[in-house]
Amino acid sequence: MATAARARVAVVGAGLGGLAAAVRLAAGGCEVELFEQSDGPGGKAGSQQLDGYRFDTGPSLFTLPHVFDELLATAGRSLGDYLSIELLDPVFRHEFSDGTVFPAPAGADRFAAEAERVFGVRSARVEAYLRYCERLYRIAAPVFLNKSLHEISTFLQPRVLFSMLRSLQIDPFRSMAAANAKLLGDPRLVQLFNRLASYNGSNPYRAPATFNLIGAVEQCFGAYSVRGGIRAVPAMLARVAEELGVRLHYGTAVDTILRAGDGRTVCGVTAGGERRAFDAVVANLDPERTYRVLLEDSDAPWYRRYVNSEPSSSAIVFLWGIGAEFPQLQLHNMFYGTDYRSEFARIFEDNDVAADPTVYVNIGCRATPEDAPSGCENWFLLINAPADRGQDWTALADRVRSAVLSRLTHALSCAVEPLIQTERQLTPPELAAETGSFRGSLYGLASNRLGAAFARHPNRSRRYPGLYFCGGAAHPGGGMPLAVLSGSIAADLLLRRV
Ligand SMILES: Cc1cc2nc3c(=O)[nH]c(=O)nc-3n(C[C@H](O)[C@H](O)[C@H](O)COP(=O)(O)OP(=O)(O)OC[C@H]3O[C@@H](n4cnc5c(N)ncnc54)[C@H](O)[C@@H]3O)c2cc1C
Repeated sequence: MATAARARVAVVGAGLGGLAAAVRLAAGGCEVELFEQSDGPGGKAGSQQLDGYRFDTGPSLFTLPHVFDELLATAGRSLGDYLSIELLDPVFRHEFSDGTVFPAPAGADRFAAEAERVFGVRSARVEAYLRYCERLYRIAAPVFLNKSLHEISTFLQPRVLFSMLRSLQIDPFRSMAAANAKLLGDPRLVQLFNRLASYNGSNPYRAPATFNLIGAVEQCFGAYSVRGGIRAVPAMLARVAEELGVRLHYGTAVDTILRAGDGRTVCGVTAGGERRAFDAVVANLDPERTYRVLLEDSDAPWYRRYVNSEPSSSAIVFLWGIGAEFPQLQLHNMFYGTDYRSEFARIFEDNDVAADPTVYVNIGCRATPEDAPSGCENWFLLINAPADRGQDWTALADRVRSAVLSRLTHALSCAVEPLIQTERQLTPPELAAETGSFRGSLYGLASNRLGAAFARHPNRSRRYPGLYFCGGAAHPGGGMPLAVLSGSIAADLLLRRV
């Protein structure tokens, strides 16, 4: 005889957070239905086919695989059985505006040795810096990443209490850039680590130095390539969810979150024009849309707080099918602009993009050769950009495209434009339309101030009993592993109450 489910739960959105929540809830004994408006899983971690080329359209860097493994372990599964990943070495190819090229080797000691050779900074100093990043991670993660920040119970756990007692050691009172300048000295090495603020859409000249913990994630714990491209990550989570009995409804938008007679307690959704009863709902879409559209509640304090907070940066993305090969380039390549401080000021203060912006080029076919025709390469280019506030994006994207072409043509000593066989560009309004993110921000809110971690949307709604939030715009924030953690945290909070 089938055992009764602990609860019937609707998950809205098959982004990484929603998929993670669905897996965790199904593994915990709930009956789960997941509704996704588009025709497949992934959300921002999307995929695009263009004239024989395939591109990942969102994230490209895979880190912290243990987060995914721990989620799968709750369902008695192991990541290695579902996803093929390989440690990257070199991790990134960095090219600075003075022409210096630095292929960053994997591992703290090898990175430090190569940094000494290229930048002339003593390897012991660089290793000490990486140990500092690692220490920040070890102290901050138990408090700020792994649990809800909005439940008293979190702060009663010994491990969290211990970490809180050490929280003055997380370097919160100076900026990432100030710490990096002091600890590393060489402006190129400083720029290399300052760029990590953009991993959560923030400005390194304002974000607390605590975020230097990202240096440990990338350089000490390891960055990985994923066979099949990043789209294999949401596909893997969707497969596990299905194996656990989650019913996936693609092409089915949720229009309303239903409430009981008290006007507050969540009791179901309308999806595809049908009313469906559920005991709880997990919203993986942006909180702005959840309140404004699904709950029609623009008066909710969290709604007002969210829309009045500083959004994370967005991006201008170019997908280029390149009819040539550039063996000197890696999977991940950075071409830095000359003045990083003004680059971030342009984004966060002027809502604009610098004249010679830093360019990130990801060449997916390095990990998945079939993603480009033979002798060709699929280039995904990302330039940090402000959130959408009605700028003239056509003009801005044209200007950025010219700047990028001239930078790459110079750096590669080869005219790049004639090699572009197929092309698509994505601007913040398009990212907003395609992924539902508020103002097209990539990571929800920016972390440009002390206390930003507490401003992210909680994983459990107090206003609407039975409603839970996950995804990059909820706690603990954006980026693939964090979105997955948010799904697990929301699911655990729900499981505690059913
Ligand atoms: C260009 C770009 C580059 C990035 N680079 C990186 C990177 O290198 N590394 C990294 O870790 N992270 C990166 N990120 C961030 C990362 O992609 C996100 O943090 C993460 O994928 C967000 O997942 P999420 O759970 O918030 O869901 P989302 O991806 O936001 O998905 C939400 C889902 O909800 C669906 N939805 C919305 N409304 C409804 C509705 N009414 N009914 C049903 N479904 C609905 C949407 O269609 C979508 O599928 C990048 C993002 C972008 C866009």
